[in-house]
Amino acid sequence: MSVEPPVTTTDAGIPAASDEFSLTVGAGGPTVLHDHYVVQKMQHFNRERVPERVVHAKGGGAHGYFEVTEDVTQWTKARFLSGVGKRTPLFVRFSTVAGELGSPDTARDPRGFAIKLYTEEGNCDLVCNNTPVFFVRDASKFQDFIHSQKRMPDTGLRDNNMQWDFWTLSPESAHQVTVLMSDRGTPRSWRHMNGYSSHTYSWINAAGERFWVKYHFKTVQGVENLTDAQAKALAGEDPDAHRRDLWDAIARADAPEWRLEMQIMPFEEAADYRFNPFDLTKVWPHSDYPAVTVGRMVLDRNPENHFAEVEQSAFDPSNLVPGLGLSPDKMLMGRIFSYHDTHLHRIGANYQQLPINAPQAAVHSYNKDGPMAYRHAGSQPVYAPNSYGGPKADPDRAADLGWWVEAAEIGRYAYEKHAEDDDFVQPRALYRDVMSDSDREHLVTNIVNHVKAGVKSDVVPRVVEYWRNVDADLGAQVAKQLNAG
Ligand code: NDP
Repeated sequence: MSVEPPVTTTDAGIPAASDEFSLTVGAGGPTVLHDHYVVQKMQHFNRERVPERVVHAKGGGAHGYFEVTEDVTQWTKARFLSGVGKRTPLFVRFSTVAGELGSPDTARDPRGFAIKLYTEEGNCDLVCNNTPVFFVRDASKFQDFIHSQKRMPDTGLRDNNMQWDFWTLSPESAHQVTVLMSDRGTPRSWRHMNGYSSHTYSWINAAGERFWVKYHFKTVQGVENLTDAQAKALAGEDPDAHRRDLWDAIARADAPEWRLEMQIMPFEEAADYRFNPFDLTKVWPHSDYPAVTVGRMVLDRNPENHFAEVEQSAFDPSNLVPGLGLSPDKMLMGRIFSYHDTHLHRIGANYQQLPINAPQAAVHSYNKDGPMAYRHAGSQPVYAPNSYGGPKADPDRAADLGWWVEAAEIGRYAYEKHAEDDDFVQPRALYRDVMSDSDREHLVTNIVNHVKAGVKSDVVPRVVEYWRNVDADLGAQVAKQLNAG
């Protein structure tokens, strides 16, 4: 039985006269300006796009839930983690980093893994990546790093020479570049990769004890990657392969799942830990801080509308509920400013009122009005303090989770070095102790293919030196295959 479709209307809800004919003076005459229906259709079309994200432009996402499976109340008072079996709804957006909106999903790139938990105490965003470390450790280098991954100013082309020029002049990148050039740089799908907070964050329990923590979302599907050749072929055959894979899996009720494991460091141990625990280019070896299972994350519902949910979703690492806090990681400090700022630019001052971003907890804020505001506080006082029943802050429940800083002169400092800090020690451990023979073989092939695609002769010797610093034999293999002595 066919169902009658609804009548087309204007955006004001008024029935439209035609889906196909403009208002004209006779059959061959000019279109009249007072055809407001067609004029407004054109105007709206011209405004269909919001600016794409400067980074993480191409993505996909899904809804699901987080379920606590172990008691973690000894480390955090966060209510959404307060009892085994407790479930919190969430939305996850996966993405590549450097490519634009239409770019291929299988490009060699880190993957974003952003999680928005709609908790009873407000939104909690964990803006993760599929790698446990990052290319730089100070937010002042982030913009330069991203520029080097994007396009040349004159040709508008991507340029591997820029990438290797930046990396080899920034030795702190070696750990992340080792992961990126391994087959983990081309995951089989979003379902087959882990998500890492990478940053160190903090937790505080009900007794006020503080801990440094790292989040690891481990894929239950297992880590699976594409080879360089498979990724390149798929980029041409199906540029949306990862978006499609996630959608199809959820549509056939094959809900992907991740296990949340935490590394937890007692607060006092940070000072003397063998690595600077806030340096984003380093992991905490599992032998020092074994993973503690916390819960599971399941994605079981596809978006109803890609634009409204995936494109307009806006994550912010400063969204941390009571019981969760920051750390002195200098990259994290930068992200705390930058994420909110980019959403203000991209979507507007009231981006947190959009359904995908709106908390499920009640909002009682003194921020008001602005473009497209539709949530209002009614007759609530517009200033604090006030004596007319306006909201009052709760310093006990929402105390900022702080740390001590020694009195020092304001200046531009490198991180304090801890006993074993070195830019190459951890990528060396990854190469020598973790990778299999075939991982190592693929790493060399991937590096050589990437360098051969456009890296200039003055940069190539630095590339060889970079890999020699990770491991002498790795450097020798790269040199041999690049005919670079
Ligand atoms: P472990 O042997 O305890 O852990 C090694 C980790 O490496 C595992 O978490 C594994 O992740 C991951 N891994 C396995 N193969 C690869 C690969 N080809 N590329 C990237 N990561 C891989 O060793 P340590 O904790 O002592 O760390 C040794 C090195 O392992 C580090 O220097 C770092 O490069 C890497 N690593 C460490 C992590 C950590 O948090 N400690 C996290 C990820 C990598 P999985 O089990 O999910 O497959």
